[in-house]
Amino acid sequence: MTSATAPAGPVPVELGAGSPGLGSASRGPRFRPPRHLADLDQAGRRAAVAELGQPGFRADQLSRHYFARLIDDPAEMTDLPAGLRGELAAALLPPLLTAQRELECDGGTTRKTLWRALDGALVESVLMRYPDRVTMCVSSQAGCGMGCPFCATGQAGLTRNLSAAEIVSQVFAGAKAMARGQVPGGPGRLSNVVFMGMGEPLANYASVLTAVRRITEPAPGGLGLSQRAVTVSTVGLVPAIRRLAGEGLAVRLAVSLHAPDDELRDDLVPVNRRWKVAEVLEAAWGYAAATGRRVSIEYAMIRDINDQGWRADRLASLLAGQLAHVNLIPLNPTPGSKWTASDPRVAAEFLDRLADRGVPVTVRDTRGTQIDGACGQLAAAS
Ligand code: SAH
Ligand code: SF4
Repeated sequence: MTSATAPAGPVPVELGAGSPGLGSASRGPRFRPPRHLADLDQAGRRAAVAELGQPGFRADQLSRHYFARLIDDPAEMTDLPAGLRGELAAALLPPLLTAQRELECDGGTTRKTLWRALDGALVESVLMRYPDRVTMCVSSQAGCGMGCPFCATGQAGLTRNLSAAEIVSQVFAGAKAMARGQVPGGPGRLSNVVFMGMGEPLANYASVLTAVRRITEPAPGGLGLSQRAVTVSTVGLVPAIRRLAGEGLAVRLAVSLHAPDDELRDDLVPVNRRWKVAEVLEAAWGYAAATGRRVSIEYAMIRDINDQGWRADRLASLLAGQLAHVNLIPLNPTPGSKWTASDPRVAAEFLDRLADRGVPVTVRDTRGTQIDGACGQLAAAS
């Protein structure tokens, strides 16, 4: 996604021994955010309050405040003894992210927040209110190590993985803003979460999985969203896709393909040098078979690069008969980039070629481009 902070420039692509993979953020000492309620399951929360000499029901009280009532300010937790609130909150509800900047468009129904973490790392989230759903697009890492040359986040490189609670905090903020009527249209419920902000979610597997569980567990264990309303978007880390397929979750998988041929995809998505198109798609079909869920194939339309008719035909033949749906995303040019979005007529023909061959396809909503919200990139799940 486009980051307000990401410099444009040459793309650091490192493949080989240290190629992007599951442990790509484990090199060198990295900041570890403090533990938070949202990192823990119920048993872990009870153990944490026991460390403070408190009975287990205090953990349940905190959980109800945070996950059911969307309260994170200790002053509002009036059923807790006043003398205890500060101590419990300091131990289990440390404020992990501070809103540094808010940008709005679409009459306030699209809002991007730039968050500053405790170590100064910056991440973004975007809330998008539609008539039938409210989607929060969240970041899973500060930066990204995958080096896709059309993506501002990729150009900035990886700073670090976010903790589960840092991810959940972004969702919490959206759920709270909706519940409190702070988004035009009156009070409502956050319904969807897409991991399409900064970072490669499957390169931060453990935290993303914990976050998904926390987002979808019924309150007061978690925020109670439907698993089906959560989309995890990946650049195509094959082992992690296979692992995700075995988690027993009903989340949607989005695969950022962007090219049907290895020759071009090797350049657009450098991790393709490690896992080729055929292997990525095979893992995607395995995911569809395991979950019964249609996989989204993300395809950024880049003028004269990947938008030729023959590539549409090649894509259609790769997807024929599979549980798949294509999202065409007009490229949101990053500062200094030589690439731009496809001509609308070319994009329309690309779409027609897919549709004519029976491939379900839609053009991605590009909400928020005015605020650099990169909703073309962020793309609400359909
Ligand atoms: N790392 C994951 C998820 C975050 S990126 C992934 O790549 O899937 C979310 C989506 O935005 C991806 O489909 C990505 O390819 C797309 N994207 C990134 N930069 C973009 C740009 N400049 N224009 C359009 N889409 C972009
Ligand atoms: Fe950007 Fe996603 Fe590529 Fe990372 S994997 S550089 S976030 S498009």
